[in-house]
Amino acid sequence: MSQTNETQAVVIGAGIVGVCAALALRQAGLAVTLVDPDEPGGEHAASYGNGAFITPASIIPMSVPGLWRKVPGYLLDRDGPLTIRWRHLPRLTPWLLRFLAAGMTTARVERTAAILSGLLHDAPDRHAALAAAADVPGLIERRGVLYVYPDRAAFAAEALSWRLRRTAGVVWRELDAADLQAFEPALSPAYRFGIHVPAAANCADPGAYVAALAAHGERLGVRRVTAQATGFTFEGMKLRAVETDQGPIACNRVVVAAGMASARLAAAAGDRVPLEAERGYHVQLTGGAPGGPHLPVMPSDGKMANIVTREGLRAAGQVELAGPGAPPDWRRAEILLRHLYATWPGLSRDLPVRRWMGNRPSTPDGLPVISAARRSPDVFYAFGHGHVGLAAGPKSAALVAALVTGSTPPLSPAPFAATRFRW
Ligand SMILES: Cc1cc2nc3c(=O)[nH]c(=O)nc-3n(C[C@H](O)[C@H](O)[C@H](O)COP(=O)(O)OP(=O)(O)OC[C@H]3O[C@@H](n4cnc5c(N)ncnc54)[C@H](O)[C@@H]3O)c2cc1C
Repeated sequence: MSQTNETQAVVIGAGIVGVCAALALRQAGLAVTLVDPDEPGGEHAASYGNGAFITPASIIPMSVPGLWRKVPGYLLDRDGPLTIRWRHLPRLTPWLLRFLAAGMTTARVERTAAILSGLLHDAPDRHAALAAAADVPGLIERRGVLYVYPDRAAFAAEALSWRLRRTAGVVWRELDAADLQAFEPALSPAYRFGIHVPAAANCADPGAYVAALAAHGERLGVRRVTAQATGFTFEGMKLRAVETDQGPIACNRVVVAAGMASARLAAAAGDRVPLEAERGYHVQLTGGAPGGPHLPVMPSDGKMANIVTREGLRAAGQVELAGPGAPPDWRRAEILLRHLYATWPGLSRDLPVRRWMGNRPSTPDGLPVISAARRSPDVFYAFGHGHVGLAAGPKSAALVAALVTGSTPPLSPAPFAATRFRW
C-alpha cells in the first residue's frame, strides 16, 4: 500500500468546492470520505442556485476604490444590486471595514484580480474535463458569455475592470448595436454595446452538476456519509477524527469545505476567519422561456447573470448583507424579475416563477481560504469563494489536494493562507 492509501481524508461539505476536493484527493490515491447532512446539489447550498458563469473574466472583486462613498446609498436604496440591512450593521461593521479597505486603492484591486486570475484562467478547461470524466459533458457549455451595456460610455465607466481583465489575458470582442442584436435578437434595444468573451463557459445545471460529480466520486471509491460535522479530535497536533452528529469518523487529514459553516469549523482548528454571507437570489422561469437569451448574458446595470439552465431561464444576482440567519427578503428576487423582464421584453409574463436565496461564503478581501490550519498540519481549508466558487472549484481542489499530499501546487498558495487575517 502506498503512503497515500494509508491517508484517511475526510472532506466536510459536498458543495462544488467539497466534491471537487474529494475527487482530487481520491485521484491522488487517498481514501476519502465526503460528509454532508444534505444531498449534493440540493437547494440548501450556494452551489445550487448560482449564476452558472465559469469565466476567466470574473476576477474583479466587489470592493473597488470609491465603494465606501456608496455605502450610505446601499443602506437606503432598496432597488440597487447591493443592499445592507440596517439592523445588522453593528454586527457587520468589522467585516465591512475590512471589505472596504481591501478595495481602497487600485493597487490592492490589481493584486486581487491577478491572484483570482490564477484560480480562474483555466476554469472552463478544468470544468470541461471534469464534466467529461463524470460522464456529463453536456453540463458544461462553451459558447462564451456576453456583457451588455446601454452604450459605450457605460462600458468605459468600467475601464479599470476591463484593464485588469486585459492584463490577465482575457480576450474579448466588442459588439456595436447591430452586432449585439445579431447575437441576441430578443435583447432590449436599450442595450447598444456589448462584449463577448469567447473563452468563457457556463454550467447548464449547477445542482445536477454537483450531484453528478459526487456520484462520480462514489464510483471512484469516495465514501459518502450523511452527517453534520461538529468538530475535531486531536492528539497533540495530530488529527484523530472528525466529530459529527452521527459519531466520530476516524481520519488523519480533513478538508473543511462547508461553505458558510466553515468559519465555525475553522475556529475549532484554531483559526478566526472573517466570513460573511453575501446573500444572493435567483428567479427562474419554468418552461422554455422564448424571448430570452441564447448565451449567458450579464446586463451591466442589473449586475445579474441571465442564463438558460436546464430548469429554465434564471436571473441570479443581488448582494444582501444581512447575516446568514436572517429570513429572505423576497423583494430582492422581485428586483431581479423586473430587471429580467425589462432586459428581455418579449418574455411571457405568464410563466411560473421560482424564487431562491443562498449564501455566498465571502471573505472581506475577495479571496478564498485554501491553506493548512494553525492548530494542526492535518487540517486544511477550502472555503470562502464568494462570487466565484463554481468557477474556481476545480483549481481550488487541485491546490488543496497538493497541500494535503505535499505535491507541487498548481499555483502559489501564499495569498490564500488563513493566517492572513490579523485581528
Ligand atoms: C446568486 C448567486 C450567484 C452566483 N453566481 C456565480 C457564478 O455565476 N459563478 C461562480 O463561479 N460562482 C457564483 N456564485 C458563488 C458560488 O455559488 C459559491 O461561491 C459556491 O457555490 C460556494 O461553494 P461551496 O462548496 O463553498 O459552498 P456550498 O455550495 O454552500 O456548499 C457547502 C456544503 O457544506 C455543507 N455543510 C455545511 N455545514 C456542514 C457541516 N457542519 N458538516 C458537513 N457539511 C456541511 C452544506 O450542506 C453544503 O452542501 C454565486 C452565488 C450566488 C448566491
